[in-house]
Amino acid sequence: MIKNPIPWPNGARCAVAFTFDMDADSILHLDHHSSAHNRVMALSMLRYGPEVAVPRIVETYKRFDMTQTFFLPAWCMERYPAAVEAVLRDGHEVGHHGYLHEHPNEMERDAQREWLHRSIEVIEHFTGARPKGYRAPSYNFSSHTLDLLVEAGFDYDASLMGDDIPYLLDNGAGTVVELPSHYALDDWPHFMTSRDFGYMTSMKTPAQAVELYQAEFDAAWEFGGLWIAVWHPFLTGRLARWAAIVKLIEHMHGKGGVWFATLEQISSHVRKVVADGTWQPRTDRLPYYDKPIPELGEVEPTLVAP
Ligand SMILES: [Zn+2]
Repeated sequence: MIKNPIPWPNGARCAVAFTFDMDADSILHLDHHSSAHNRVMALSMLRYGPEVAVPRIVETYKRFDMTQTFFLPAWCMERYPAAVEAVLRDGHEVGHHGYLHEHPNEMERDAQREWLHRSIEVIEHFTGARPKGYRAPSYNFSSHTLDLLVEAGFDYDASLMGDDIPYLLDNGAGTVVELPSHYALDDWPHFMTSRDFGYMTSMKTPAQAVELYQAEFDAAWEFGGLWIAVWHPFLTGRLARWAAIVKLIEHMHGKGGVWFATLEQISSHVRKVVADGTWQPRTDRLPYYDKPIPELGEVEPTLVAP
């Protein structure tokens, strides 16, 4: 099923990474700058992430002896240092997820660069090192993002959905390892309901969400794939959902042959097997397009509408 399977370490059948994007209330200020302070229920729902869910999640990881990746908007690190400490105390990885969850593809290139570097400084301040990895807020990777990641020395990106296994992104000046996921492994479609954000969908039960996650995991295990959950503490870290995820982790352990890793570890494994010649990844040259396609007529490129 996978044309060019990657050899995972120690003969593992698949690689698994639970990644949490701890957006907290950054997304509320971004969407409702002038009124966010007055939306107290929404603030409480989002603050549940750093204050209740993150301690719960790291506790579970400790029980299973797992080290994982957290993508933290830098503003959230400044606001919720205790959650950052809890993540760092157990050796989890902190990845770059914007400053205030701003959307790169709604900004000019220079503004993107400015926000990227502002966040790098904050991460460096907290962790003592530059981040190795990046995930664009709301997957809003722009046609300039790869250039900026290469320029800033990032090792990997985890924003795209172009394969079942890692691949390389090349801009002509350098490469970044792409560690792809998919909406099927995102908790937002299952659980996000909020009047303040305009999501009034009927939510799934934990069992329904886990059924999909587990189907994706079983396929990754069978065919040698990469399984990356894109979850949010304020959604998946709630009581019933997290209890169901603990059972999913037990299912994964029960099957065996699973490499639980941080994205940094997966990315450095990719670099290693490429360097020693044991695996040749496919490479995407970006950007796919630098302006609107000509077949529909000449128009000025625009930023994605907010
Ligand atoms: Zn996010």
